[in-house]
Amino acid sequence: MAQRKVVPDLAALDREVIGDVWTSDEAYRNLVYLCDECGSRFGGTESEREAVDYLLAKMNEYGLENVHTEEFEYTGWARGTAKLQATSPERREFPCIALPYCGTATIEGKLVFLGSGNPEVYADKAAEIKGNIVMVTTESPPDMKRVMHRMEKFGRAVAAGAVAFIWMRDEPGLLEETGSLRFNAEADIPGIGVSKETGAAILRLAEKGPVKLKVTTKNKVERMTSSTIVPEAPGQESPRRLLFAGGHLDGHDIAPGAMDNGSGTVIVLEAARALARIKDKLPHTVRFVIFPLEEIGLIGSEEYVHAHRREMRNVQFMVNLDAAGAGGEPVLLVQGWKELLPVFKGMAKQMKQPWQLRSNLNPYSDQFNFAAAGVPSGFMSSTRPAGRKPGERGWGHTAADTLDKVSPRGLQMDALNLARLLLYMSFQEQDWPASHKGKAEIKKLLEAQDLWEVLGFEKRLPLRGW
Ligand SMILES: [Zn+2]
Repeated sequence: MAQRKVVPDLAALDREVIGDVWTSDEAYRNLVYLCDECGSRFGGTESEREAVDYLLAKMNEYGLENVHTEEFEYTGWARGTAKLQATSPERREFPCIALPYCGTATIEGKLVFLGSGNPEVYADKAAEIKGNIVMVTTESPPDMKRVMHRMEKFGRAVAAGAVAFIWMRDEPGLLEETGSLRFNAEADIPGIGVSKETGAAILRLAEKGPVKLKVTTKNKVERMTSSTIVPEAPGQESPRRLLFAGGHLDGHDIAPGAMDNGSGTVIVLEAARALARIKDKLPHTVRFVIFPLEEIGLIGSEEYVHAHRREMRNVQFMVNLDAAGAGGEPVLLVQGWKELLPVFKGMAKQMKQPWQLRSNLNPYSDQFNFAAAGVPSGFMSSTRPAGRKPGERGWGHTAADTLDKVSPRGLQMDALNLARLLLYMSFQEQDWPASHKGKAEIKKLLEAQDLWEVLGFEKRLPLRGW
């Protein structure tokens, strides 16, 4: 019955949405504003507040409903200074940057280089690491099945008794790579970033004799307030049943964060604009959430899920976009709900789009807080140019994450793919096999990917609300 009635409507709406997004350059123009007029949108900055005001105005202009912000407090970080000196075998000074949540300290110690730092290297060099300064590259260890994140490398260094942490970028270009040391809390030890070239110079110095380093950092860690932005396109048939599309607004403070994640923000906004135009024909409510503070601990999404804990039961699916718009084929990583893969495969066939569909739980972006609360969720992106190694960020987290790296067409493509995905899901009333998962099931999924232990090293346990 549902098929006969719904399918023709869906096809007509689908064509309407496609035509709308494909003839619009709003996504790119919004990104230009966010990057050029606002800036990094990093938590606690004036630029963050300007971006929030801009997005609220846009959402109202697009005819979205219930447009509002939800405020909360968190532990913020503001960059001060960082200095890296060698005191032996020669006196030298090297350029570096502090990593978010690095506090204020002066630390001296011997350099211990761990390469890409797989867990065995930490174990083998445990005696050397204790009381000394660890340097590790941004590369994920090539001999590991999973991607090893910065947070884990830092956590393992702290657990092994290191007194400071140096994050050496693996790609050339004199760029330091930033990234939070801990989530929503001051780091246990100072952490700084150096470019590949600086790291190489330090390693050449080590050929002359044991290197002694001095790390001096001065940064602010203090309570701040921020807000999540939430508009919606309310459904007509069962408005309490919710679909979520989200992305994080903040970039790192050293860049405009055009890819990570200005792109995801404007793609969600563009999908919201397209769906707002047909909101009186949507069976289910689609809620769009623009999160602050993802970069320093997935804080916005954690606060949101926690504040809407009871409502989470009504969420059919949450899709998150982080560093999207690369211009390739659409990718949807379902976060462990394998039973949804055939459903999305069916949708991809109807859409006549070559979606790449996989299932894998990723604890390093905002969808994780929904998944951890048992909500069926996914991570959407598009395929990147060939040749990038696992875990490699490209320009992300560097000062070079600028507008010129983003293709207007890539944004348009992903906005189109997201809007269509939400539209198809909104019409998928029956045949939705995913149910909410309990804590034990989520823990099992994490253990199967060796990530439960990792979250422990990262000091993220117990998960909020567990
Ligand atoms: Zn991001």
